[in-house]
Amino acid sequence: MFSEQIDQSILKEIYDKAISVSDFGKVATYIPELSLMSPNLFSLSCVIAGSGEIIQTGDADTYFTMQSISKILSLSYAIEKFGMDKVFKSVDMEPTADSFNSLMRLEMASPIPANPFMNAGAIVICSILQKELGRESFNEITNFCELFTGTKPKLNQKVFNSEMSTADRNKSLAYFLNSTPGLLMDSVENSLDLYIKLCSLECTTLDLAKIADVLSCGGKSSFTGKYPLSFETVKTIMGIMITCGLYNGSGECAVRVGIPAKSGVSGGILAVAPGKMGIGVFSPPLDSKGNSLAGLYALEMLSDKLNLRGVKILD
Ligand code: GLN
Repeated sequence: MFSEQIDQSILKEIYDKAISVSDFGKVATYIPELSLMSPNLFSLSCVIAGSGEIIQTGDADTYFTMQSISKILSLSYAIEKFGMDKVFKSVDMEPTADSFNSLMRLEMASPIPANPFMNAGAIVICSILQKELGRESFNEITNFCELFTGTKPKLNQKVFNSEMSTADRNKSLAYFLNSTPGLLMDSVENSLDLYIKLCSLECTTLDLAKIADVLSCGGKSSFTGKYPLSFETVKTIMGIMITCGLYNGSGECAVRVGIPAKSGVSGGILAVAPGKMGIGVFSPPLDSKGNSLAGLYALEMLSDKLNLRGVKILD
């Protein structure tokens, strides 16, 4: 049984090694409220597929904001409710070597964002949600999240205000997108409001592991017993995670960790070992591409130790 291979001593070893790596990273400062997070926090939570058994270490009670990990929720909700055709009419599904908030490609290559995990793509997804759901959009997504985690996530108002007051880059993206007729489905203000609210949702690493569990189990939650996702959505989300989940660090993550993952600038990473387990990891110091340094290191160790890639050497 896979669950027998993982125990507290493995997590302890990962914790000890990963925490020392975090010294080489930098906590995000471009959203001032995020810079207040302690660089010494670290937590790692795993949920075993099917049984829902939880194994975790570190500051597992610490709440942090989802940031770009919430792009999994907005994209999967949009696909579930409105279908693949509508979603992928205004956003592509291709990786780029650009940073997450890059503007360049929209003018140089195509006005259609390359993928829904780039900020530009996620803002387009939020414009669809806003147009279809209006004022209920935020509430709908938090209810949707509850189908995965069993609890409704809360908005961190301080982080929201902090990001809103420093969102020049995302505003630029939204206004640029809006200059292509028909691309942004709702106003710049409404689309950005939802985008930043979703980034400011609070979670623990266990919440992330529970969301990952649904992906790992093909759409069914081991906790709530509900089916938040169809298999088609699971396939789509995991494909985009492996190719685009860590932006211009996605290739490195695919090599080092080898399973679908999605990062956020607060230092969280959600990773899926298909059919094996859902994982959430958190450590605020980031590498130069905005991905948690110790988080990536911990995932690499976990993947190697538990053979999460599923490679079998045949005689
Ligand atoms: N809220 C952040 C932003 O829009 C999310 C980016 C991230 O987590 N990579 O800049």
